[in-house]
Amino acid sequence: MGTGADDTTAQRLRLLQQEFVQPVRTGPGDGRSSRPTHAPVPINLGVVDRIRAAVYEVEHHTRAAVPDAGHFTGEESRVYDWARQHTAHLATEQQQAREALFYRQELEYAIAMGDTTAIRRHPCPQCGCWGLYWRAEARRAACVNHYCTDDNGLSRTWELKRLAQEHVARKSAVAHCAT
Ligand SMILES: [Zn+2]
Repeated sequence: MGTGADDTTAQRLRLLQQEFVQPVRTGPGDGRSSRPTHAPVPINLGVVDRIRAAVYEVEHHTRAAVPDAGHFTGEESRVYDWARQHTAHLATEQQQAREALFYRQELEYAIAMGDTTAIRRHPCPQCGCWGLYWRAEARRAACVNHYCTDDNGLSRTWELKRLAQEHVARKSAVAHCAT
């Protein structure tokens, strides 16, 4: 199975943990922590819960497809590898559904970090324009195109799940063309 770019969900999760969950570590052997020492980052329980729910969702999704996958017990960011290993033999559609789930979580992590520009990398599923923006209160991506409205004349909005599905389908179409 693919590696490299596919691991970005795990990378995003680790970033989120570093930012909000893990206590700041200082001292020898950890050259990366160059934060000022006067302000320890408080553990954000909302983010802790969010990560826990995301990991559970992946675990549950995996076991629904492969009942004998067992329980995932490793470090949280490893859940994606674990799920891929247990579902690598499944049909293409099921693997795409898995990747769409991972990608949706990647977008959620990005947004939790404040990076709502992740939304703009996706065309609107309806009109194809690149004018999606994040509506935090609705937790949906909205289209900026004035002509792209629903039956009530309101801007079309999309769940992250839909954007992720389209993203994965597009990627797979490109991969097929390349071979
Ligand atoms: Zn649109």
